[in-house]
Amino acid sequence: MRREVVFVTSEMYPFSKSGGLGDVLGAQPLALHRMGVPTSVITPFYGRLRTADYGIHLTISDCHVGYPWDPITCDVYEADYHGMKVYFVHRGEYFDRRYYYNDHKGDYFDNCERFIFFCRAVMALLRRLGTPPAVLHANDWQSGLVPAYLHFWRQTDPFWADTRSVMTIHNLAFQGRFASRLFTGCGLPPQAWTMSGVEFWGDFNVLKAGIAYADMVTTVSPSYAREILGPAYGCGLEGILQARQHALHGILNGADYGIWNPAQDKFLPCRYGPEDPQGFAGKQRCKTALLDELGLAPELAHRPVLGFIGRLRGQKGIDLLLDIVPRLMERDVGVIILGEGNLAHEARALDLMETYRGRLCAVVGYTEDLAHRIQAGSDIFLMPSRYEPCGLTQMYALRYGTPPVATAVGGLRDTIMPWPSPEATGFTFGRSDPQLFLEAILDAVHYWEHDTEGWRAMMIRAMRQDFSWERAGRSYVNLYRQLGFDFS
Ligand code: ADP
Repeated sequence: MRREVVFVTSEMYPFSKSGGLGDVLGAQPLALHRMGVPTSVITPFYGRLRTADYGIHLTISDCHVGYPWDPITCDVYEADYHGMKVYFVHRGEYFDRRYYYNDHKGDYFDNCERFIFFCRAVMALLRRLGTPPAVLHANDWQSGLVPAYLHFWRQTDPFWADTRSVMTIHNLAFQGRFASRLFTGCGLPPQAWTMSGVEFWGDFNVLKAGIAYADMVTTVSPSYAREILGPAYGCGLEGILQARQHALHGILNGADYGIWNPAQDKFLPCRYGPEDPQGFAGKQRCKTALLDELGLAPELAHRPVLGFIGRLRGQKGIDLLLDIVPRLMERDVGVIILGEGNLAHEARALDLMETYRGRLCAVVGYTEDLAHRIQAGSDIFLMPSRYEPCGLTQMYALRYGTPPVATAVGGLRDTIMPWPSPEATGFTFGRSDPQLFLEAILDAVHYWEHDTEGWRAMMIRAMRQDFSWERAGRSYVNLYRQLGFDFS
């Protein structure tokens, strides 16, 4: 049996998704699988999953997970997802919940225990399946213990001796930081409790475990890989990242153009593309339909409409946008906001909708299909992130011919060619400041108003950008090669 790359993730679209992590793990393993890399995925079985979806079926019952909850077990379900195996770790008390990690009151109190359990279940399942993986590829803190278990266990257990690990950081701000007493329950040896291990200012830091013990560490854009080595973006982990710098790689994520492509998007009222002679008319029809769907003034069909989609959190700079709404309204533009998150930001966005009825629409909630229609029906996409490891929504905006206005950080810097370059695909501004953001939007609006041909050329350039997973997949294959595996 060929040894596999096994992805470990707490989200995988279409089975689960709370943001970009779900999108990435819904596409990356499959892209590698299609490139000939033997690949499978292990992820939790969340409550909202239905076994009828994708033929999910029970494959192992009572898989023994072991210490420290001996004799705790899990059930394992399996699906064949486009020819690739996906395993779902089922334990109702941990994963059968309305949300993934938190509700409106905050993080679930037992998140540490939930994801220690998940990581140990992953190791137990692999043991039970009987073939050690070539590479265990962990993603974000929820699977951060997997590289650590591997590191310690392979020193004594020949089963794991030839397995290597990769830890991918999708967002360094989420670290899984818990009280030190929870370390004793995770099953790592006491020598992991050091500054170069899992200890972090007296706490147990699960992401740090992954960074410290993985054979390779990656993050999701070259710029973010550089930024996190310093205190401004390092979230306190810059020290261990510097120590592991030789093993740290920045690989830009891909976009899944099977799902995010206006030429075949099932959620749109009509489809369009850069080659299509009716392309601009198609996008315009999407815009008119969106204005109607959201109760915005029909006259906005002839004015720039600005779209924002994202978590309503400080990271995404939603407060910057809310701050400048009155100034934007003076310019007679439309604004559409889709997101959920911080209750104060949600309330403020809804208040602004009352004030600017017919001109601004805020949809508070999580609506996958509307996100597609906003990408298509807006003229300008707003992404004033304070930091952005990679960002997928701007990649989608480019493909939908909706030039972004974004902060020049992280993956935004790596994906948007800023105006006034002749190759421009969008607009960027230097740092998260409302005035700079406003000025960049006004540049875009002015361009939209005064140079229709130039704007259309920019839209076409944007739509032709290629951030496909085939390209990103090749970088991962090279990485696995460096770990000693050649899957070609
Ligand atoms: P992050 O992972 O930091 O949240 P990304 O830009 O990488 O940001 O990915 C966000 C993903 O989540 C995109 O697919 C975006 O369309 C989706 N998304 C975010 N908020 C919402 C929402 N309120 N409704 C629907 N989709 C959303």
